[in-house]
Amino acid sequence: MRIIRYKQKGLDVQWGWFDGDNIGALSAPPFDPFRRADANIPIKNIELFAPVMPGKIIAVGRNYVEHAKEHQVEIPDTPLLFLKPSTSVIGPGQVIILPPQSDLVEFEAELAVVMGRAGRWIDITQVDAYILGYCIANDVTARDLQNVDKQWTRAKGFDTFCPLGPWIETDLDPSDVLITCRVNEEIRQMSSTREMVFNIPQLIVYISSIMTLNPGDVILTGTPAGVGRIDPDDKIQISIEGIGVLENLVKNDRRKV
Ligand code: ZN
Repeated sequence: MRIIRYKQKGLDVQWGWFDGDNIGALSAPPFDPFRRADANIPIKNIELFAPVMPGKIIAVGRNYVEHAKEHQVEIPDTPLLFLKPSTSVIGPGQVIILPPQSDLVEFEAELAVVMGRAGRWIDITQVDAYILGYCIANDVTARDLQNVDKQWTRAKGFDTFCPLGPWIETDLDPSDVLITCRVNEEIRQMSSTREMVFNIPQLIVYISSIMTLNPGDVILTGTPAGVGRIDPDDKIQISIEGIGVLENLVKNDRRKV
């Protein structure tokens, strides 16, 4: 099932589901028991929002060998974690704003895991029971700031630096799906999730040994090789096999011009 957050004109943002053509409402958030209303609202009549508003976003650095190589850094022995603020989240079709503090902002196409229930010290055999589903993420990064800061909070934390969407796919085997990133229709990244250094069960076991994972928390699982610069008016399209396409445009912060 594809879970969305959407808005109809004059109404609040609400949870729903998408049958491939039409939208229906959910009776409750997808972390609780819910019923599905019939899907009878055409998707063109609604606005899609980010499919979840996470309490926290835990991201994994250098989780694809080829990406670590392109930055000439070592592959870590244990997952390299950082956090992105929830205020960095935008939805499909919303605009990535280039901040005036950076001269080099880059895209990073990533598979995102959305947690379905709370867990600490999650056992590797129980991981699936804690996952609601998967969506597409862009871990937008001010690379010049990342290179001068020891911590990555500034480089990864600007508003609009975490596009998520277009929906949460609950039926996906994430162990070997193709991730593709196009900038202005040109392919820039293409890899499979089977190239991850630490797979999703290993990441969830590791992260939950440090912090409680709550319903709606999002894990960004790292980016393959091929990251690169984005500029004003670029169109970024990230597709993940079995999920769909997340598209965002890029604009300058008006303070910069
Ligand atoms: Zn990343």
